[in-house]
Amino acid sequence: MNAGFVRVALDHPSSALYDYRMAHDAGPAEPGMLVRVPFGRRDVVGLICEVSAHSDVPAAKLRDVLALCTACPPLSPQWLALTAFAADYYQRGLGEVALPALPQALRDPSRWARLLAPEERYRLSEAGRAALPEALPARAQALRRLAQELAERGELDPAQARALHPKAIATLDAWREAGWVVHDVVEMGTAANRATQAEATPPAVTVPRLSDEQAAAVEAIGAARGFAPFLLHGVTGSGKTEVYLRALAALLAREPEAQALVLVPEINLTPQFEAAFRTRFAATLANDAIVTLHSGLAEGERARHWLAAHTGRARIVLGTRLAVLASLPKLAMIVVDEEHDPAYKQQEGLRYSARDLAVWRAKQLDIAVVLGSATPSLESWWQADQGRYTRLTLARRAVADAVLPSVRLIDLEEERRRGRASFEGLSGPLVAAMKARLERGEQSLIFLNRRGYAPTLACDACGWVAGCPRCSAYVVLHKPERALRCHHCGWEARIPHSCPECGNVDIAPMGRGTQRIEEALASAVPGARVLRIDADSTRRKGSAQALFSDVHAGDVDILVGTQMIAKGHDFQRVSLVGVLNADNALFSHDFRASERLFAQLMQVSGRAGRAGLPGEVIVQTRYPRHALYHALARQDYVGFANTTLAERRDAHLPPFVYQALLRAEGRTLEAALAFLAQGAEALATLPAAGRVTVYDAVPLTIVKVMNAHRAQLLVESQSRAALQATLRAWLPLLRANRAGSGVLRWNLEVDPLDI
Ligand code: ADP
Ligand code: ZN
Ligand code: ZN
Repeated sequence: MNAGFVRVALDHPSSALYDYRMAHDAGPAEPGMLVRVPFGRRDVVGLICEVSAHSDVPAAKLRDVLALCTACPPLSPQWLALTAFAADYYQRGLGEVALPALPQALRDPSRWARLLAPEERYRLSEAGRAALPEALPARAQALRRLAQELAERGELDPAQARALHPKAIATLDAWREAGWVVHDVVEMGTAANRATQAEATPPAVTVPRLSDEQAAAVEAIGAARGFAPFLLHGVTGSGKTEVYLRALAALLAREPEAQALVLVPEINLTPQFEAAFRTRFAATLANDAIVTLHSGLAEGERARHWLAAHTGRARIVLGTRLAVLASLPKLAMIVVDEEHDPAYKQQEGLRYSARDLAVWRAKQLDIAVVLGSATPSLESWWQADQGRYTRLTLARRAVADAVLPSVRLIDLEEERRRGRASFEGLSGPLVAAMKARLERGEQSLIFLNRRGYAPTLACDACGWVAGCPRCSAYVVLHKPERALRCHHCGWEARIPHSCPECGNVDIAPMGRGTQRIEEALASAVPGARVLRIDADSTRRKGSAQALFSDVHAGDVDILVGTQMIAKGHDFQRVSLVGVLNADNALFSHDFRASERLFAQLMQVSGRAGRAGLPGEVIVQTRYPRHALYHALARQDYVGFANTTLAERRDAHLPPFVYQALLRAEGRTLEAALAFLAQGAEALATLPAAGRVTVYDAVPLTIVKVMNAHRAQLLVESQSRAALQATLRAWLPLLRANRAGSGVLRWNLEVDPLDI
């Protein structure tokens, strides 16, 4: 192509493309290539969306492309269409969606030349680990440091090594001759994974015989051609992973170049999946054909994995929600595990649903997408009801003899009335059940969705409650850290010795969090090894994985934690699950709260009795007659889903209507509300306004966070198209809305999950 102009998307809220002139010697430009261009007074990276022989921009105003990235194959038209769809649907600029979806290395022109250049690394061999640093003279301190850093960091690139010692490279070469060091040359665009690279022979793979239900599901997926959305409804422990593995194996055997994308809701679940996939495909796929993509990867690793996907070398990409926007030129199947999980919804920036984009992507490419869950979202369940998704059912647990757990509801009111003993919020029956498990060498899991020691600290004498100075929220007591912490803004203070209002020294924690239960368990169940897993105990990188390994290894008797422990893990020796304090969510004003609670409780119940030990779930509640707990006791997702869907239909709630939420944060609540009210007025002037309902602007439950006052306005329609058209026309009016001089920020969210 000899065209002279390119239209470029920039990371900018506007959906406009910007024209630039291509110098003749810059190389052949194509859509999907990255360029460095001047924008205002800065240089920025943009994405070429169109190439043209002419431009409508006057020549005097046109500026030149400064550099073209030729090292990396261009992004495909399908990928550009995916990001264009996401931008359009979620009401953002194209570049605002496309550019942040790329790894940092691609957005940094100084790295373009070496993007796919091989990288050198040094690491210790087994012999080196045994010999160093002892083999070095004690006074060779700099060399000893080099050896130590190698051992600690796992690997060093030449620049890092030279920074430690000026003659590092010569030394490392000498150590290599001695057999202590291995020198790797890693080609970018591959994902060589040293830690798991087969130095030994791969372990023998045992492939289980499929149950009839699993076999039927695998066959249905394998027989599908074209766009084929499946809803794999499989009870906890029914072996959904095995279905994915078989369906993928069949696909890769059928199409030797095909790529597959497997999404999981949480980073913590990737190691378990990665291990299962590597073992299963050890004989058929090269080690670097399976890569992970998630925000926990180091930047260089993420770039390498992304490029492996983009160049087609990676055949299976395993990732969290951000992986749905990966470039996968040969994508032939998508799996979304635990598709109901709210973590698939990004809650800042581009507020997209990775599950919804996965389905769109499958439709665009005419391929199969498998949405798996024990508790599908009501949106997906409704799609299956209407026959748009094919429902596949696994009603039984896969492991022989494993049955779904029995559920027992403990009525806390009655326990109290009868004066039965309880221990720090742990009822007598629950404590007894844990002791029985301890004696049998089985594990218990206590689920409490509240981290910290206590939700707050209070004074009995004057009624003072510890609140955040910047938010309209209580601050959480963290005992090990000896701090009061705001979970909304991060504000932190030392625990006061006495009431700041009246001086009373008897201030006391109010309510219970995971830390307090951990402490209580130590004395309630003497001799038990208790482990807590929540966002606080897993702050350090890799620590969650280490803690979960302890549970799997049997080094833990009682595991206490937040929703982090509820999801997806295949615990072999857990036979008891205790649920504390779940009642709050029964009375939330958010219509999705009960769906979320039910899914969470079904998921956490599903951790019990997976490997054939009879499982029991004990729920402590003040409302033992609540319908939700009854559905849980029967492990009856279908009944719950059908009833809840009927209620949603009667109440005109999603999935029977489509919603969007305009949120504003102001210096005052009045400013935020005024901005929203003007927005509502502006919307009323739009042509499609008649088909859209606008509700009153309301303050958020926690109205103030970081001194910003928050309010929202709900907009909904029976017609997705009408809503989309309205939002598109509305945005420019909102941008021009000057009511909000006191408005700090606002955003528009399509298909919001939290209302
Ligand atoms: P789910 O994701 O549906 O909750 P998993 O995929 O974790 O369930 O499987 C639960 C357990 O059942 C795992 O330990 C798995 O190895 C085992 N499993 C799966 N399929 C079979 C099968 N056909 N025969 C025996 N065990 C199986
Ligand atoms: Zn007081
Ligand atoms: Zn705060």
